[in-house]
Amino acid sequence: MLIQTTAAPSGTHHTTVTDQGSFASARCSCGWKGPARRARDRARRDAEAHTGG
Ligand SMILES: [Zn+2]
Repeated sequence: MLIQTTAAPSGTHHTTVTDQGSFASARCSCGWKGPARRARDRARRDAEAHTGG
C-alpha cells in the first residue's frame, strides 16, 4: 500500500513516529514506513537508522 502525502524535496528525510493502537511505527516524508513496534523508542530508532543516524 502506497500513501502519497504532500510532496517533499528529493533527498529530504523528515521522519515522524505514528501511534497505531498499542503499536508505533516510523514514517518518512520520502514515503518510507518502518515496521510496527511496541515501543515508540524502537520506532524512533528505525527512523534514525533510515536517515542514516
Ligand atoms: Zn526517507
